[in-house]
Amino acid sequence: MSNAERDPAEIECESGAPTGEVLAPREVPLGGPRAMHVRRTLPQRQRTLIGAWCFVDHYGPDDVGETGGMVVAPHPHIGLQTVSWLFEGAVTHRDSDGNHASVVPGELNLMTAGRGISHSEVSTPDTETLHGAQLWVALPADRRDVDPDFAHYAPPELGEPGWAAKVFLGSLFGSESPVATATPLLGAELRLDEGYVLDIPVEHHFEHGVLVDQGVVTVGDVEGTPGDLVYVPPGPVRLTVSAQEREARVLLLGGPPFGEQIVMWWNFVGRDHDEIAQARADWQAQIADGIQADGRFGVVADEPLAPIPAPALPNATLRSRG
Ligand code: MN
Repeated sequence: MSNAERDPAEIECESGAPTGEVLAPREVPLGGPRAMHVRRTLPQRQRTLIGAWCFVDHYGPDDVGETGGMVVAPHPHIGLQTVSWLFEGAVTHRDSDGNHASVVPGELNLMTAGRGISHSEVSTPDTETLHGAQLWVALPADRRDVDPDFAHYAPPELGEPGWAAKVFLGSLFGSESPVATATPLLGAELRLDEGYVLDIPVEHHFEHGVLVDQGVVTVGDVEGTPGDLVYVPPGPVRLTVSAQEREARVLLLGGPPFGEQIVMWWNFVGRDHDEIAQARADWQAQIADGIQADGRFGVVADEPLAPIPAPALPNATLRSRG
């Protein structure tokens, strides 16, 4: 997914002091004539990272007949990985590393941008309802220039009467994802029956975020409603998540505090303004003729959509805080 804000702020991100909090979403149009909207809970002013998770967009359930669905033309990324997770619908992914994949509910698609990749994401013609999440993971300094890569994993469903889980990154309840990550991460979908209280053993040095997809949940003593991201600082060895009123579904994200300062702008994760500006210039040079010429970000093959131009850079130059 591409950040479609017309004037994206350049955000300096760091791991903040631990405080329990509910991160409420803001609505962001994804672009296109009818503009599908997403609910963004990361980054935001009071918190920019949870572990290496640096971007959380949640969308749907949307009637594709009304929104036009997901139509995200080729755009570039550096310094991050994208995690696509669907609850309903299907999306076709094409990237400049030659991957052509179907993103379907309950299966992980993880794209590593590393030093540079470009991709497009378009919901399939037979998709009537689109519902899911697009998440980004910041790559640590020593891994952020790796070659582009793409991984797919269909995790088994585990659980007991009252709850079910799919662990797509990291390990939980004895289920371990085979997909390698550059920093320790947890990513799992959890479903709870109405009234069920689930006790989750977690790594005490991880911080966690519980993205509420449906239902009203309580995380510890903090309540989250659909669209909220409930933040839990490092410390606890168990999390208690309960479903009030009705069946609930959440994504549980976690990782140790990232410990590095990053600069995020548009679709790029870098370490300083100049690096971001260079990536933008490289992309603009590649699409100067309105089509994608080969270069740093490669070419998305078999994609008729015209590439997305980068927004203008902010006037202010941000410096990384030490
Ligand atoms: Mn993208």
